[in-house]
This record gives sequence, C-alpha cells and structure tokens, in this order.
Amino acid sequence: MALMGQMMSAPLLISSIIKHAARYYGSTEIVSRRTEGDLHRYTYRDCELRARKLAQALGALGVKQGERVGTLAWNGYRHLEIYYGVSGMGAVCHTVNPRLFPEQIAYIVNHAEDGYIFFDLTFLPLVEGVAPHCPNVRGWVAMTDRAHMPAEAKVPLLCYEELLDAQDGDYEWPQFDENLASSLCYTSGTTGNPKGALYSHRSTVLHSYASAMPDALGCSASDVILPVVPMFHVNAWGLPYSVPLVGAKLVLPGPKLDGASLYELFEQEKVTFSAGVPTVWLGLLQHMQASQLKFSTFRRTVIGGSAAPPAMIRALEALDVEVIHAWGMTEMSPLGTASKLLAKHHDLPDAERHKIQEKQGRVIYGVDMKIVDGEGKELPWDGKAFGDLLVRGPWIIERYFRNDASPLVDGWFPTGDVATIDADGFMQITDRSKDVIKSGGEWISSIDIENVAAAHPAVHMAACISAYHPKWDERPLLVVVKKPGAEVSREQLLQFFEGKVAKWWIPDDVAFVTEIPLTATGKMQKLRLREQFKDYKLPTA
Ligand code: AMP
Repeated sequence: MALMGQMMSAPLLISSIIKHAARYYGSTEIVSRRTEGDLHRYTYRDCELRARKLAQALGALGVKQGERVGTLAWNGYRHLEIYYGVSGMGAVCHTVNPRLFPEQIAYIVNHAEDGYIFFDLTFLPLVEGVAPHCPNVRGWVAMTDRAHMPAEAKVPLLCYEELLDAQDGDYEWPQFDENLASSLCYTSGTTGNPKGALYSHRSTVLHSYASAMPDALGCSASDVILPVVPMFHVNAWGLPYSVPLVGAKLVLPGPKLDGASLYELFEQEKVTFSAGVPTVWLGLLQHMQASQLKFSTFRRTVIGGSAAPPAMIRALEALDVEVIHAWGMTEMSPLGTASKLLAKHHDLPDAERHKIQEKQGRVIYGVDMKIVDGEGKELPWDGKAFGDLLVRGPWIIERYFRNDASPLVDGWFPTGDVATIDADGFMQITDRSKDVIKSGGEWISSIDIENVAAAHPAVHMAACISAYHPKWDERPLLVVVKKPGAEVSREQLLQFFEGKVAKWWIPDDVAFVTEIPLTATGKMQKLRLREQFKDYKLPTA
C-alpha cells in the first residue's frame, strides 16, 4: 500500500507571499516614483493592508473568483497592490502592455474578458480611445486619489483611493486550490494576434522560489531591488513576487525610465540589483559615460528579453556591475536559464570566462530543456550542434488562454528559438528561428553579427536582418544607428568584422538609419525592419 507523507498541506498561494513579507519584513520599504511626480514610500506591512482593502473593494464591485481584472500601469506601489489584491482574492490579474497599439489593447482586453481595468493617469488618453471598443469592461479605475482625478474624461471613472478608503481591511486571504488561475499575460505577438499565458498560483509561487535562488537571480533580504523591466512585461520577470518573498527593499521607477532618472534613483535609494532588457541599459550606459558617472551601490543586474551584447556586459563590468545573462519567455513565467559560472570556471582566463557569461546559461531547477533537429531528433550537448529549443516544467505553458489547440510537441513546448547546449548544460541562443539568416542553405546567427557590431565604438544600436540575394537567397544586411557625433563608414564597419566571424558571415552591406523600431517590450523590431528593407538591393546582388 502506498504510504503517504505526513506533512501539512498548504496550497501555494500568491497571497502567502505578501502575508510573509508583511509579517517578517513588515518595516522593509517599498519606494515608488509616482505618475503624480513625487516619490512615495511605505512598507510591506502597509502594502499588505492596502492589498486586503483592495480585495474587499473588488468584492464590493462584484468581481468574482476567476474573473479577469486588467491593468495599464507602470511599476509602482498601487500596481503591486493590484497584483496581490486581485490574485489574492481569487481573481486574475491581467497586465496589459500600454505600449501596444490601441487596436491590440482592445483585442486583448476583449479576448481576456476583463471586467475592470485599473490604469495610471498617463494612460487616460489611451483609455478614452479604447473604452468604446471594450463594451464588457464594467469600470475603469484611475490609480490615483481624488485630488489628482482628471477634471474631465470621456469615460466614467472610478477613483482607486476612494475604493480603498471605503474598506476597513478586516479581511482574511481566502484559501483555495493552488492550481487556480492567478494572472494573465499576452505575448507580444509579432505575427498574428497576441496569445494569453494564464499562470496559476502554484506555477507563480514555484517560479518565485526558483528564480530567487543564488544561481538564478540571487535575490536576498540584504538587497535593494529595482526592476526596470515593466510589470506589464511578463510580470516584471516575477520580481514583484520574488522580491517580497525574500524580503528585499523594492524600488519602483514609475514612468521615468531614461538614463538620468534611473541613475538618480539607483543612487538615492542605494539600489544593489536590477533587471531589464538591453535597450534600457544602452540608455543608462550612455548617460553614465557622457557624464563620467559611477555607481555607489549597484552591483548586479539581470539582462534578458533579447541577447545582451558582450560589449554591454563588459561596459557594465567596467562599472563594477556583474551581468547575469538570462533567457525566458512569456510562456515560461518567464525565467528558463541564467548564466552563472561553476566553481571550475573561476580560474579560467578572462576571455574564456567571458564566453561562458555571454551564453544564456543553465536551466534553473524546475525547467528541463533539449535541442532537436528538423525531424525532432535530440541533438548532442557539444556547444556546436544547434537546433530548435524545447522546454517543459511546472511553470511552462500547457495551452494558450481560450485556445484548445495544444502547442506542445510530445509534452514539450517549442520555444521558437534556435540554440546550442554545451557539455556543462550552458545554453546559447543562436537566433529566434524567424530571424536566422539562411544564406545558401546555411544559417547565419543575426545575434552574433549584432554582438560584433555593438562592440564598435561608433555604434549605438545594430540589427542584422536578411536581405534578398538572387544567388544565396538571403544575405545579412546590417542596420546601424550611430552614436551621437560618431562617424564610421560602411567599409570601416565591415572591416571590423574581419577575424571576428567566418568570412561568409560578414554582412553584404550596412544601412545607416536614425532609429531602429522597438517592440512594446523594448526589443528591436526585426519584422518591421525586414518590411522596411524588403526591396533593398544589396551591392553584391
Ligand atoms: P517574450 O515572451 O516577449 O519575453 O519573448 C521571449 C523571447 O525573447 C524568447 O523566445 C527569445 O527569442 C527572446 N529572448 C529572451 N531572452 C533572451 C536572451 N537572453 N537572449 C536572446 N534572446 C532572448
């Protein structure tokens, strides 16, 4: 007969995280730059009380368990209260990316069937534009107090602080099945309509535990953590959960994400650890280099969302900031891998150590991965063979929200990324499969080309896309934004590649532009670039 364990069974619920933070790190601070313009400070104890009031207010508004409640908001304390209040009472916190086009936002809100939308004042014009197209939303809640409520709005609004003020906070977090839905994020959807990843309490709590571990993000109560990655980009990579879980001080930058504003906040609040996509660090680095600034306390950052160019990793290292290169996706909650050295790597020469740090890294416990060829046959872990990357695990999607077709292949989720894995399990993304350049049947990694270009002192940003070639079908075209005041010619740039990549990988041409379009999550929008350059005539054609 099976012998059952005899330990307590407690469901893994998101409310338990904020309860824990309030009870054991009650006086630890949460500092937020508000859309109203000032800095707001309070503690985990205050946050939990207000999240309970919000849960009561949602009940009073008739929000039911399982119902979706949307947000259009920056990183701030009220958004954090919504994360916990909504999920904690059993409803689903649906973070909507306000940088999407209004039509996409309306599509997502309608597809999710959001009952209420909470929004930061910045997004009032957006709300006024999409509200007529979202007939099922019962109320739009402005995340502010009465004094800051807009004098006029084209949509009837509720006031966040008034909703909270009407409640007493005498509320017990309900206990329920840990497998119930907790939050919802839509993929950026570069092709077709965005698709929803519906997380559960269990998947979120497990992901929070795992991502806080030393060889993942390595969060601790002695840290001061500032997530630059927005709370509308895969739940800010889980930091709004893992930071209270470890009891670290949390700093939320609100709408000001430019280099100067971030630097000021890093210094003022003694930030030790941060996370964001490469484009954010470009802005910060540029500001710091221009003003010859140094960080006083900032020591570690996670970079992910797209490949961190080695030149960026080195530039941050020169400022005494360790870069943790991480990889994941919306469908993975999002964290899959992080690049931390093993004990045997510490004595390696710098150049070899750098090569390892530049990879996207090893899985964290809970994630399993493999690479396969076109027939689905598993490829060796030799750091050379590259193939489609597949993953599985308890915080990886099984199916998309309101879509019955399974995306899985034999129980594995195909990531759409192409990668190598070395003998120590370090994974390196070669490319997104749609971005890889297929030159005469052979593949060229656009990321490798971009990484070389990014190391040129005159280059601010570089994207490598395929351009049509009559003989090779596709050849690499390098699209470059120069640093302000910097000069470099096409020939000089192409020469810079010599000896750094195989000869046949060197781009056929360079197109200088003033701007590279970015997606709503700050990634280079290569699909748009490919459209923009679809009739481009290569000099080699
Ligand atoms: P999203 O769901 O919007 O976060 O996008 C996930 C995709 O971003 C992944 O499938 C990768 O193509 C890309 N990505 C995320 N992190 C990295 C990284 N460190 N290096 C290269 N690509 C990345």
